[in-house]
Amino acid sequence: MVKHFEFDSIVVGGGGAGLRTSMQLAAAGERVAVISKVFPTRSHTVAAQGGIAAALANVSDDKWLWHMYDTIKGSDYLGDQDAIEHMCKNAAAAIYELEHMGMPFDRNTDGRIYQRPFGGMTKNFGESSISRTCAVADRTGHAMLHTLYQKNIELKTKFFIEWIGLDLIRDEDGDVLGLIALELQTGDLGIFHAKNTIFATGGAGRIFQASTNAFINTGDGLGMAARANISLEDMEFWQFHPTGILGAGVLVTEGVRGEGGYLINSNRERFMERYAPSAKDLASRDVVSRAITQEVIDGRGVGPNKDGVYLTLSHLGEELINEKLPGIREISIKFANVDPVKDPVPVVPTVHYMMGGIPTTLNGQVRDGVSQKEVNGFYAVGECACVSVHGANRLGSNSLLDLIVFGKAAGQHILDSSKNKKLKKLPKDVTKKTIDRLKKIDSKSSLENPREVGEELRATMQKHCGVFRFPQLLDEGLVKVNELKRRIRNLSIQDNSKVFNTARTEALELQNLIEVALATIASAKNREESRGAHSRADFPKRDDKSWLQHSLYNPKDGSLAYRPVKMKPLSVKSFPLKERVY
Ligand SMILES: Cc1cc2nc3c(=O)[nH]c(=O)nc-3n(C[C@H](O)[C@H](O)[C@H](O)COP(=O)(O)OP(=O)(O)OC[C@H]3O[C@@H](n4cnc5c(N)ncnc54)[C@H](O)[C@@H]3O)c2cc1C
Repeated sequence: MVKHFEFDSIVVGGGGAGLRTSMQLAAAGERVAVISKVFPTRSHTVAAQGGIAAALANVSDDKWLWHMYDTIKGSDYLGDQDAIEHMCKNAAAAIYELEHMGMPFDRNTDGRIYQRPFGGMTKNFGESSISRTCAVADRTGHAMLHTLYQKNIELKTKFFIEWIGLDLIRDEDGDVLGLIALELQTGDLGIFHAKNTIFATGGAGRIFQASTNAFINTGDGLGMAARANISLEDMEFWQFHPTGILGAGVLVTEGVRGEGGYLINSNRERFMERYAPSAKDLASRDVVSRAITQEVIDGRGVGPNKDGVYLTLSHLGEELINEKLPGIREISIKFANVDPVKDPVPVVPTVHYMMGGIPTTLNGQVRDGVSQKEVNGFYAVGECACVSVHGANRLGSNSLLDLIVFGKAAGQHILDSSKNKKLKKLPKDVTKKTIDRLKKIDSKSSLENPREVGEELRATMQKHCGVFRFPQLLDEGLVKVNELKRRIRNLSIQDNSKVFNTARTEALELQNLIEVALATIASAKNREESRGAHSRADFPKRDDKSWLQHSLYNPKDGSLAYRPVKMKPLSVKSFPLKERVY
């Protein structure tokens, strides 16, 4: 059965980005629906721990211009300076908006919002570290997501929960007219016909074996965009978070180091002093992850296989840990069998965040192909989008900020630009391709098992496209991932029941993961330099002459095109290129 729905706007994804966008639209009286494959407050945003950045100056002097400089430097100069200015300049207002919605921020004794230091956040253009990250203990995302969800309930946003989006609807002109989705509870299809479609589908960290990401982070938005022939930007840049729990991958927030925790190797040495003499443990994430990996390679690792290092925080004392890092204590006891009040926690760099994504303008409108022409009716916000503010490496606590600043901007742009917009007619046979794909998965015609192929994909990406990247491994990896793509086209499942068929969901998600993996490894193989999170053993230096460019991966033929980084901010002077040291 195919159900039919019509809205002014549909938002695909109920995480922070989706809910901030839908809120903007619903508040203006638009007919807006949020479609989410999980209950909105189970989106990955709920797992964000450390906080959200803004130059509020509640602890010491601060300026949004310093935040802008830190973000540009953190991005290894690949972030677009106009987008970064927009985000940092609007950060404080965005935080106060959340505060007024009722988000329960921690407070200083004077009643103002509590802020903690975070990696790469500095005072006076790199002089010393600064407390800029606003927090709700170590459960900031949880507080933010629930605040936004309740606001949407108040504004009467319509929710379609446990519906999984399968394909974009695009007509002959290339305009986007909505989405085809599947209701998990019934197995029915739905056509969501809308003037505007906003993707807020989050990250895709599940292309790797060791990941801090939720199991639902399968890059569905990118898969759907790729199947609709929309190019993907900067996909070689994946952030490895330095402190995932060894063996489990569960995240230990950077807030631990912000509060004064530090890393040690098997000799009990504070090794970050050698790699980043000034910022030490609060250098940016790519720098710390490479340092840990190097310590392990040099034989100074800890744990049964000597493949991690220790994060020590016992010196902070039980009281501070219980007050500011209660979730971390719980996670360490559960997943590492270590109470951090007494002993150090074994950690390892773990995939965490996708800097690349669906290319957009400052207003969230999707830009396509070499021409970067705006796609009518199509927006992307949050982790699935690439604005680009994070460039080659994101600073911790800048993602939650990105969600709310650009979520609001996209909502506002829709309101401003589509007042008189009419709903276009749907193309003929709009569901045909999707139904064919579903039938093939149900056909039992092949022996390709989603679980097995998925595991192979994750192992391949982990080995061939990790913290350090080697030319031969990239070449072999690309061949392997292409081969896996052929197999994934032939997936089939043995149980064809309709109701909550998790095997079918897994197969559909895998068809998205493969698009993301292919874009990642193809872009990584082509970029012959080291910048931010992309570290090539054969090209160890950043090469601004050839590579101050964003990658644009074309899913149609796997080719790559490039567009120059925007070095010109909106209103202030450009920040010139500099060597990046911490
Ligand atoms: C463990 C962890 C800790 C983090 N801590 C911080 C932090 O302290 N500070 C910070 O700034 N950043 C942090 N990050 C990063 C940040 O949390 C994420 O980048 C951000 O929350 C992503 O938000 P989003 O709204 O884009 O997507 P998500 O919150 O991931 O939501 C995606 C939504 O899309 C829906 N969806 C996906 N596919 C489909 C589909 N096919 N059909 C229908 N719905 C779909 C999902 O149901 C979900 O509702 C952390 C990330 C992790 C993993």
